[in-house]
Amino acid sequence: MSTGCIFCKIAYGEVAATIVKRGDGMLAFTDMNPQAPTHVLVIPTTHVGSLNDAKDSGVLGRLLAFARDVAQDAGVAAKGYRVVMNTNPDGGQTVFHLHLHVLGGRVMHWPPG
Ligand code: AMP
Ligand code: ZN
Repeated sequence: MSTGCIFCKIAYGEVAATIVKRGDGMLAFTDMNPQAPTHVLVIPTTHVGSLNDAKDSGVLGRLLAFARDVAQDAGVAAKGYRVVMNTNPDGGQTVFHLHLHVLGGRVMHWPPG
């Protein structure tokens, strides 16, 4: 665990979150500031700071597959959804524990802001 990491604390049950799925070393919980009717964050339960720090491609593959399963469970898979990974400040990353955003339930626009 990385001391002070809010997502590690959620993974360890030290900070409350609305958990929607758990398993395979992954955890999914609802975003506290949702940007769409479905907005779920998917994290590996072991701390990785960002995509730049991710050494294990197996973790990255399982993270993406888990996000796909979360979208399926949320009922947004058929109509469509967006998976986002922000990396470092220019990418909009604010929490430095690797995570995917799963956004759905409305039409997404392009380009993103
Ligand atoms: P990012 O900007 O890509 O690093 O995304 C971080 C996301 O984490 C934001 O959408 C926040 O709303 C969300 N967030 C931060 N703290 C919490 C928390 N304690 N529980 C749920 N979501 C959180
Ligand atoms: Zn962490």
